[in-house]
Amino acid sequence: MQPLPHFELLRPANLDQALTQLALPGARALGGGTDLLPNLRRGLEQPSPLIDLGDLPGFADIDDGAQGLSLGGGVTLARLAGDAALARSHAAIVQAAQAVAGPSHRTVATLGGNLCQDTRCVFYNQSEWWRAANGYCLKRGGDTCHVAPQGRRCHAAFSGDLAPALMALGAEVELRSLRGARWLPLHLLYRDDGADALCKAPDELLLRVRLPAPPTGLVSAYRKARVRGAMDFPLAGVACALAVDQGRLSHLSIALTGTNSRPLLLEGSADWIGRSVDADLLPEMQAAVGKLVQKQVSPMRSTVTASNHRRLVAAALAQRLLADLVQAAACG
Ligand SMILES: Cc1cc2nc3c(=O)[nH]c(=O)nc-3n(C[C@H](O)[C@H](O)[C@H](O)COP(=O)(O)OP(=O)(O)OC[C@H]3O[C@@H](n4cnc5c(N)ncnc54)[C@H](O)[C@@H]3O)c2cc1C
Ligand code: SF4
Repeated sequence: MQPLPHFELLRPANLDQALTQLALPGARALGGGTDLLPNLRRGLEQPSPLIDLGDLPGFADIDDGAQGLSLGGGVTLARLAGDAALARSHAAIVQAAQAVAGPSHRTVATLGGNLCQDTRCVFYNQSEWWRAANGYCLKRGGDTCHVAPQGRRCHAAFSGDLAPALMALGAEVELRSLRGARWLPLHLLYRDDGADALCKAPDELLLRVRLPAPPTGLVSAYRKARVRGAMDFPLAGVACALAVDQGRLSHLSIALTGTNSRPLLLEGSADWIGRSVDADLLPEMQAAVGKLVQKQVSPMRSTVTASNHRRLVAAALAQRLLADLVQAAACG
């Protein structure tokens, strides 16, 4: 990697200052820097000023009240990964945070940065000389996508671990700018375009994430497959939230990451709600969900692992999660 390029660093003391500074031309939010700074060192972008959010009052707060759970955009992943109360109420979030990068990354990496991280591609997350030698690519500097040379869009994959866990649990995000505040369901923060994956303006700050109070008996979990077990982005990651009430499935939500340019909420999973939890349910549901996953994910050749392998792994992860959670809900 190259040395960091020159940039101005601002450290606002409150939200008003932060929003004013984020509205400056070329400005970019800085959380822990674990996604952004490697990209700067690869010469992928050159924002300035960087707005360090580390001093914002309340930005790293967690509140769990009658209205549900609120997680500040500045909460570190280490805090989420080690939160025992959260592990009981929202296990998928804790498991996803534990699965991000390594312990030193998680100490500084923030929830907001995880949700707003750039998409990834083996032809893009490379040094300047490597990309130059390959004629750059459509996402930056070139006119051809090396993954799909006939196409006109970028297929870099969204590879964040927290988004599917939060989406499966019904999360909404608050975006703030000088124009005001707006809330949107987390899955609407993303679009299926690897070169421009976030549906938010550059000056909008992801202030916090809100989750509804979980329905009675809700269990959730997150699993990912990766090349290096100790520390790696997901080749595929799946989160599932499920509840059983009086012997019937009362909630089912499944979300995926690592396979498309945006994290996906699996369509069709809610069709199982109301079914009686008997010996037939799990095998039927696993077969159907496996098919839904394989149909809805579209992994491309943006990693070193074959696309079809990632498709099959995503389906298998979802099926295993279902087995674990149906059993956990039935025992709970
Ligand atoms: C070796 C390595 C391994 C990694 N492995 C994983 C992994 O397994 N899973 C995974 O999910 N990630 C992984 N990452 C990526 C990164 O570490 C995490 O996604 C991390 O959570 C990013 O958070 P951050 O606070 O450091 O973000 P930053 O780098 O500070 O910011 C990332 C992006 O989000 C924007 N941003 C930050 N905060 C906000 C906000 N509040 N509002 C609006 N925009 C904001 C920034 O402007 C920037 O564009 C890895 C990174 C490295 C270097
Ligand atoms: S998917 Fe194509 S355009 Fe996007 S980063 Fe990879 S090579 Fe570039």
